[in-house]
Amino acid sequence: MNCRECESKLAGYVLDDAPEEVRSACAAHLRTCASCRETLAQYMSIVEAISSEAEAAPSASESAALALALAQVKLESAVAHPVAAPVPQGFLGFVLASAAAFVLVATVLALQTLGVIDIPAFARSFNPAALALTFVIIVFVTSFVPIAVTACRRPLNGMTFMG
Ligand SMILES: [Zn+2]
Repeated sequence: MNCRECESKLAGYVLDDAPEEVRSACAAHLRTCASCRETLAQYMSIVEAISSEAEAAPSASESAALALALAQVKLESAVAHPVAAPVPQGFLGFVLASAAAFVLVATVLALQTLGVIDIPAFARSFNPAALALTFVIIVFVTSFVPIAVTACRRPLNGMTFMG
């Protein structure tokens, strides 16, 4: 067996996957050839690296470091996303908003009744284009401001994430 034949059989030799006569011929050549022994050593180290890689598991210190890193991530996401309350929540907020709306409407009606302001004349003083523009602005604000307020809490593609 020459070097080229030996090298072509070395993989099977290392993996114990060659017929007995090939094995013994390879062994005989390896005893006489330093170059092929070096190639064999390289094959062996590769096989060893692969098999030890497959069995690799995190050590105790690596597991601890990973757990610490995960805990850090949880803490950071909790800090980065505090429970946001951009609008009043609960009964108190509802009562305050209702009272404010009532006071506003009552004030306007009282001023109208007392003759301080004249709402029909005030409305007539606007031209239709200005009224249409006002309507568009109101629709825009009431539609898109809530979207913008809540956008920080969910991606704009509509997907929601846990946590
Ligand atoms: Zn050789």
